[in-house]
Amino acid sequence: MRTPLTRVLGPKTATGMSEGLGLETVGDLLRHYPRRYATRGEQTDLADVEVGDRVTVLAQVRSVTTRPMRNRRGSLTEVVVGDGSGRMKLVFFNHRHAQLKPNAWGMFAGTVGEWRGEKQFAHPDMHLLDGADDDADWARALIPIYPATKDVSSWVIQKSVTLLLGASGGLGELVVDPLPEDIRSRHGLLSLPAALLDIHRPTTMDDVERAAARLKWDEALVLQLTLAARRRAAALEPGIARPRRAGGLLDAVDAALPFDLTEGQREVGEELAAELDRDQPMHRLLQGEVGSGKTVVALRAMAQVVDAGGQAALLAPTEVLAGQHARGIRALLGPLGRAGELDGDADGTRVTLLTGSLKAAAKRQALAEVADGSAGIVIGTHALLQQGVEFADLGLVVVDEQHRFGVEQRDALRAKGNRPPHVLVMTATPIPRTVAMTVYGDLEISTLRQLPSGRGGVSSSVVPATEKPGWVDRAWARLREEVAAGRQAYVVCPRIGDVTGPDDEPEDADGAPAGDDDGRSERRPPLAVLDVAELLRSGPLAGLRLDVLHGRLTPEEKDAAMGAFAAGETQVLVATTVVEVGVDVPNATVMVVMDADRFGVSQLHQLRGRVARGKHPGLCLLVTEAPTASPTGQRLAAVAATSDGFELARLDLETRREGDVLGAAQSGRRSGIRLLSLLEDEELIATARTEATALLATERGLADHPGLAAEVAALATDERADYLEKA
Ligand code: ADP
Ligand code: MG
Repeated sequence: MRTPLTRVLGPKTATGMSEGLGLETVGDLLRHYPRRYATRGEQTDLADVEVGDRVTVLAQVRSVTTRPMRNRRGSLTEVVVGDGSGRMKLVFFNHRHAQLKPNAWGMFAGTVGEWRGEKQFAHPDMHLLDGADDDADWARALIPIYPATKDVSSWVIQKSVTLLLGASGGLGELVVDPLPEDIRSRHGLLSLPAALLDIHRPTTMDDVERAAARLKWDEALVLQLTLAARRRAAALEPGIARPRRAGGLLDAVDAALPFDLTEGQREVGEELAAELDRDQPMHRLLQGEVGSGKTVVALRAMAQVVDAGGQAALLAPTEVLAGQHARGIRALLGPLGRAGELDGDADGTRVTLLTGSLKAAAKRQALAEVADGSAGIVIGTHALLQQGVEFADLGLVVVDEQHRFGVEQRDALRAKGNRPPHVLVMTATPIPRTVAMTVYGDLEISTLRQLPSGRGGVSSSVVPATEKPGWVDRAWARLREEVAAGRQAYVVCPRIGDVTGPDDEPEDADGAPAGDDDGRSERRPPLAVLDVAELLRSGPLAGLRLDVLHGRLTPEEKDAAMGAFAAGETQVLVATTVVEVGVDVPNATVMVVMDADRFGVSQLHQLRGRVARGKHPGLCLLVTEAPTASPTGQRLAAVAATSDGFELARLDLETRREGDVLGAAQSGRRSGIRLLSLLEDEELIATARTEATALLATERGLADHPGLAAEVAALATDERADYLEKA
């Protein structure tokens, strides 16, 4: 399986596969499965292909005509092909393929173009099925169509795979079946050679299904073994118990809280308190709707750790959010958070903020406080992960909005403890159980289901700008009404605008906004903060106090903009998704999202969570040019229709590729996940988890299963390589 492809394929093909598809070894290629299977005469409906699509079609030549070109020298050959569902024209300049004759079958690949309203391929790649082919692949009922690139077409892959499948000695010589025999028989699974043969060269779709069922097992088991091994390693290294102490910071926090904890907050709080009191490090995921009050739960856990003599670190995804947390926690603790200062309480601790933008002197001081332990609570961004940040006694790591951080980053912070610290990860994006289990593996889950009472709630509507232009005016009018009533508003745009042109990136740590449904470009660039702010100032929102916030501002400017908005000086904040995560201004009640179709479902839900955080009801308006009936329009309607984060998370998973969910470091080839669906294969994943745990619990572990051990090791190597690349 580990044989390099350069040894078995021509150099050009091997290079193409490596560069375009990341396939390096025989095993990689054998596990490069067909995306779908073509059936002669009834596949990729030609009627369905659209201009700009890159497709491979299987079709029959209907007619061939060659004529001289009108305005230039040379000839033009037009070939009409059809597949029963539709027709398409292929055009060739100064080129006539001798084999292109009526009735010939062929596979044609290219980017669909258009000429005078007709779809066409210009100079497509093609492979004619002339019967003289050296193999029987083409005569099959099901022709595999592989994920391909411009340089390596589906049929080159097909040929290369055929070469491997027919290797002397058969597949059995080439591959080592990683699955232990007893697991295979217990679950009625095919052998690896049989499964590979069936997935690449099936006779019926039943073959494909049985093969996939077996191949998914490999993926699930290897992944679960990796996670189980991590769990076991963690369990071997004890942490430090941080028991609750009366009369300390925690009691002070509880006394200072301006509200009563919700029942959920209290329950989760008890759960955390008990776990912190054990020397086995806590690994817990706290998920809760936006606005459910996760911060205070985390703060109480941090206070308990400080009371027990340790330090707690809070890792936030952006400087804006880190600053907000620091301000909020300092305000709550009062003198207890200023130990060592003139008006500080000697029994308290220090709340230290550590971000990348600190000036040298301030940074030195912060680092010193962290190192000598006087900072009990340390709040920061990625800067916390850097070398040179040394803790005196790190007892608890809290990661806010985990989806912005990779597992490695969490581990980097965890490694800063003398002994493994307790870890609490907070997310507002609810995650289905299987996904959580797979992505985080080793985390227990707590959930805050209830919002603090007295919340107005958010009502959302889609504003279809093209179909109902009048609604856009109405949206601005509603915003003005709220501002007139003393409230504040956000206007969110997908892009910053100007200076760097249409390609500028959305935000600091953000990923690109979710693409549209069809992935085709050629649309107007997304609306930009700077342009929209200008338009609003001189138009529908003239006279209001309006400001902008985006990732290109300096940290000081960001702080100032956020501060002015929090203080109510700014009435309308036009921003990018910097406001998506955790920003907390209870007086803000309106959010208008421009080009809402450019955002993902979870992102919209997060954004919406920024309003109605106080007692006033909130309003979220999703402005879009997408037609109401389009898939995009439907997606937005679904967001508007429900405030159930779990349901939306599911919808989000369905509309995104799973690689995005797993995060770059864990996607695709790296995680070994190709066929496994985290949503649909829940049962299989759970069973694989049980088998993995059982395998590792035996005395010999994986010693008797070298194939399996090799796959697990390969995954670990890939992950480490990935980590090094990023470090
Ligand atoms: P999230 O879970 O989205 O991070 P936050 O922790 O930012 O939510 O809390 C949202 C707002 O609700 C904050 O202003 C916080 O002070 C407030 N809050 C938290 N818990 C309660 C409660 N039990 N009762 C009333 N307000 C609360
Ligand atoms: Mg939060």
